[in-house]
Amino acid sequence: MTANITRKLRPATQLVHAGTLRSGFGETSEALFLTQGFVYPSAEAAEARFKGEEPGFIYSRYANPTTDMFEKRMCALEGAEDARATASGMAAVAAAIICQVKAGDHVLAARAMFGSCRYIIETLLPRYGVDFTLIDGSKIENWQNAIRPNTKVLFLESPTNPTLEVIDIAAVAQVANSVGAKLIVDNVFATPLFQKPLELGAHIVVYSTTKHIDGQGRCLGGVILSDKQWVDENLHEYFRHTGPGLSPFNSWVMLKGLETLTVRVRQQTQTAAKIADFLADHPAISKVIYPGRADHPQADIIAKQMSGGSTLIAFEVKGAKKATFNVENTLEIIQISNNLGDSKSLITHPTTTTHKNLTDEARAELGISDGLLRLSVGLEDADDLIEDLDIALKAAV
Ligand SMILES: *Cc1c(COP(=O)(O)O)cnc(C)c1O
Repeated sequence: MTANITRKLRPATQLVHAGTLRSGFGETSEALFLTQGFVYPSAEAAEARFKGEEPGFIYSRYANPTTDMFEKRMCALEGAEDARATASGMAAVAAAIICQVKAGDHVLAARAMFGSCRYIIETLLPRYGVDFTLIDGSKIENWQNAIRPNTKVLFLESPTNPTLEVIDIAAVAQVANSVGAKLIVDNVFATPLFQKPLELGAHIVVYSTTKHIDGQGRCLGGVILSDKQWVDENLHEYFRHTGPGLSPFNSWVMLKGLETLTVRVRQQTQTAAKIADFLADHPAISKVIYPGRADHPQADIIAKQMSGGSTLIAFEVKGAKKATFNVENTLEIIQISNNLGDSKSLITHPTTTTHKNLTDEARAELGISDGLLRLSVGLEDADDLIEDLDIALKAAV
């Protein structure tokens, strides 16, 4: 049933082959096992499988062969021992935190994070007696000062949404280890190609696979990766009994997405770098934040922990909200959407969309101004995108 490749593979090859389970029909492409349950050849076999004495699938809330292929392929890419795929990125973040905390524990997180992650930590966890602290994660002293003996989980996103700030993962992992806590890294913006949090010392990595891993704007999905012991002791039972797993169909879409991840993300990053340079020189723009440019405020940390730039660019248009809306409304190729990592280029105004629920003060702390736009660069020709932006920026000011 398994593919018989035994050599150690490079990432692009893993993305095409790792984890493949081939059925008796010898299909080339990964099979879609659209089934809830599995039948057993005998009552004895059913008993043995439930006892864990015999390998095999039991029920798709627990595990499914198509989802299993996706999880194994992600493990190979990430260098993780085990993984569980979830119905969305938020299901991954929620499960990764909730499966390991109890009343009386403390969670420490960088405040610059995806809005729904903030809801879990600030609103949901305190209802169950889990305390939290949010800090400016870019300064390592802030982590050192806020850590407590009862801190169980540290959580960060790097680069952050939407301002593409970078946090020193290895340094934060050391702070976590000082009290035996676990560091969870939301690695969506870096993609598994350009940043390996587990190698940097993080204990758990989460993705919204909705983004670059699907990469073509179709299905929601997520994945949690860690060592086998952590998955066995924390996630395994939580997952079976609360049912946040990814559907076989969406797992299959994600598997096919992984096959082209390298070519898509490399191309999108190359285009993004070219657009970032164009924007940096544009008179209608006051600031460009791009993790591939030498003028990024944390270029030194980027050089240390990332092997590539980003498919995302943050930039500020002079003239605040009015001019910024004009830019968005004049664009023809680049579409207005809060999604990212798609093959279609997408732009969003965080102040009035993804980050509208934050107070003015909280937005100011995060550097989210009225002129800020976040651009997710797709697979279109770079020169068409630059022309689209140039026309819109000229019209705006
Ligand atoms: C999109 C996103 C999420 C949430 O993922 P969904 O698949 O939309 O649930 C979490 N973190 C980051 C950084 C994201 O970009």
